[in-house]
Amino acid sequence: MNKKTKLIHGGIFGDPHTGAVSTPIYQVSTYKQESVGVFKGYEYSRTGNPTRFALEELIKDLENGKAGFAFGSGMAAITAVMMLFNSGDHVVMTDDVYGGTYRVMTKVLNRVGIESTFVDTSKMENIEAAIQENTKAIFIETPTNPLLKITDIQKASLLAKRHNLLTIVDNTFSTPYWQNPINLGADIVLHSATKYIGGHSDVVAGLVVVNSEKLAEELHFVQNSTGGVLGPQDSWLLMRGIKTLGLRMEATEKNTRRIVDFLESHPLVGKVYYPGLEDHPNHDIAKSQAGGFGGMVSFDIGSAEKADQLLAKIKYFTLAESLGAVESLISVPARMTHASIPADRRAELGITDGLVRISVGIEDVDDLIADLKQAIEN
Ligand SMILES: *Cc1c(COP(=O)(O)O)cnc(C)c1O
Repeated sequence: MNKKTKLIHGGIFGDPHTGAVSTPIYQVSTYKQESVGVFKGYEYSRTGNPTRFALEELIKDLENGKAGFAFGSGMAAITAVMMLFNSGDHVVMTDDVYGGTYRVMTKVLNRVGIESTFVDTSKMENIEAAIQENTKAIFIETPTNPLLKITDIQKASLLAKRHNLLTIVDNTFSTPYWQNPINLGADIVLHSATKYIGGHSDVVAGLVVVNSEKLAEELHFVQNSTGGVLGPQDSWLLMRGIKTLGLRMEATEKNTRRIVDFLESHPLVGKVYYPGLEDHPNHDIAKSQAGGFGGMVSFDIGSAEKADQLLAKIKYFTLAESLGAVESLISVPARMTHASIPADRRAELGITDGLVRISVGIEDVDDLIADLKQAIEN
């Protein structure tokens, strides 16, 4: 089944009991048992809910894995995956991971003894050098946020296998439509489904897919034990969003390429960060491991003041955290999504005060470019 067909026909199509072509929302917490322990596959909705299960089957199919899991947020998903490890275990991670991932590793999970080291995973030698005796996994985010750095998933997975480590990939930016880490050798792929998968800025959710029965069993145990599950309404909203994921990603891709061309040629715009640019340091890897470069672009406008002037004038790009929705969004990472990262570390990573990040939506691209132009030239 090709991708666009899978988005519609993957998982469990409709409702086999009634013929309804949309999965019903099973707004239920518990299930009747015929006699003690005799039930129809569901006993309690933390353990399993038919609407959530339909979503979990769908994401499993989209990522070509063995089992899918839906959580109440991307952070709940990441935390559950980390609960596969024990106190004293160590994880090597991408240095510019999502701010919340950095925070949960360094301020929460460190307290229960899960250790982490952050390195630039776009260079394999950095990963190799960070591997310790107690290392259990490599956690990659690619592309990253907001500098769109790329890690070679296949190479990192091979390196992980040589050292007997799991490879975990945060695939939020590329989505299963453009990039399938399990096909490239990863063991676990996860998403903040709040972003492109939901796609309409109306649901907070996280999804995980694992590549083996063993990991499936272990993660289901954690999901059921810690309980950060996604509710049936939100599960349904994600399935609705996924139906148009392909159309949205294609539209975003087209718009983004036009916008990147405009930014690149504008004299008031400094460096433009986008994996689709040929001078991006990992352009070739991005091209070979993903079907598209995505809708995230960052550019340097020079200073915090210039960024504020741009924000004051911009009309169609909504100033907001988050990304990956039908509407275009704009943010200033240093003062928003990445404010929780200490200033010296931000500088180290290259997240300047004048760095502006846009998430390109599916509006008319001529309107978006005209809007950027008037705001930049204000
Ligand atoms: C937003 C995001 C997360 C966290 O997801 P939530 O749904 O906000 O909890 C994790 N990783 C990446 C790359 C994200 O963009």
